[in-house]
Amino acid sequence: LTILGIESSCDDSAAAVLREDGAGARVLSSVVRGQAELHEAFGGVVPEIAARAHAEVLDHCVEAALSEAGLGLADLDGIAVTAGPGLIGGVLSGVMLAKGLSAATGLPLIGVNHLAGHALTPRLTDGLEFPYLLLLVSGGHCQFLMVEDEATFRRLGGTIDDAPGEAFDKTARLLGLPQPGGPAVEAEAREGDAGRIRLPRPLLDRPGCDMSFSGLKTALLRARDAEMAEAGGLTRAARADLAAGFQQAVVEILTEKTRRALALYLEAAPERPAFAVAGGVAANGPIRAALQGLCAEAGVAFSAPPLALCTDNAAMIAFAGLARLRAGEADGLDLSARPRWPLDAAAAPMIGSGR
Ligand code: ATP
Ligand code: FE
Repeated sequence: LTILGIESSCDDSAAAVLREDGAGARVLSSVVRGQAELHEAFGGVVPEIAARAHAEVLDHCVEAALSEAGLGLADLDGIAVTAGPGLIGGVLSGVMLAKGLSAATGLPLIGVNHLAGHALTPRLTDGLEFPYLLLLVSGGHCQFLMVEDEATFRRLGGTIDDAPGEAFDKTARLLGLPQPGGPAVEAEAREGDAGRIRLPRPLLDRPGCDMSFSGLKTALLRARDAEMAEAGGLTRAARADLAAGFQQAVVEILTEKTRRALALYLEAAPERPAFAVAGGVAANGPIRAALQGLCAEAGVAFSAPPLALCTDNAAMIAFAGLARLRAGEADGLDLSARPRWPLDAAAAPMIGSGR
């Protein structure tokens, strides 16, 4: 089976072609066009600008993905598209393009949950078997999920307020670093002393695996202002120390909560225990290293996708769509775009797709 994936739920326009044969699924091409520079001046992703940019570049992404794969539309067996959750204008751009392609070619149309794309990626990259424990940690989400099959996700806990990716982005803004904040803060933190500026670890001593990151953000703002007041501005060293202190707090929160989630997961005595981390923040080196160390201690297989498949991409959408295509499932041209679409709940509010 050969499937095209389309992704446009946030600020990356992406298309990819995936082929599954006897040897498993292979990414034939994966094209991602980021929009960071379009939003830079606004200090965050502007939904209207994102939607317009997706509408402009998505079909070029599809053309590029097909041509890189050396294929045409006639070689495809299906079209998978992110149908939510995300910024509704962007999701609609992708869904409308996919509907048009499906109507023109007669190919099955498959709506995919963006989060299922992130959550299933470790199966694409490492052949992970169900059930595995997943930490999905991204720009908008942070949750522990038992991934039982392609469509069954059981939530064990997660953030009660912000997502770590959002906190990385906010931290970058506070420190005058570029967006997306994650990679910028990670690079800056390498130059800093993580022990000099001590930031809080909210909820760390509470039982369970819920997390909180909003207090950390506020504390960072205060610590930055204190540093600036003392030195009459933000020195290079202070900036690096703040980045390092922030990143270290996130590492510790995620590691401690993963320890608890692993204990819950291991209670079910899985035959081949496996843990995966996925989503944009899973691209972070120190976070990957800390979680890998924890798994080594616990005797649990560890998996983290290559960096380009952690952040948004369409290969993960094609891969998640493949499972439905294989099962003979498809959506009609009345497929809706959903701004919210939790992975672990069947019912979620829908918004008409304009058709
Ligand atoms: P969601 O998947 O929750 O809908 P999203 O699609 O916007 O949100 P992703 O693309 O999955 O988010 O992840 C983007 C986030 O990952 C951004 O907040 C970015 O700062 C963060 N990120 C990317 N690379 C790194 C890194 N090296 N370290 C920390 N965070 C990172
Ligand atoms: Fe994402």
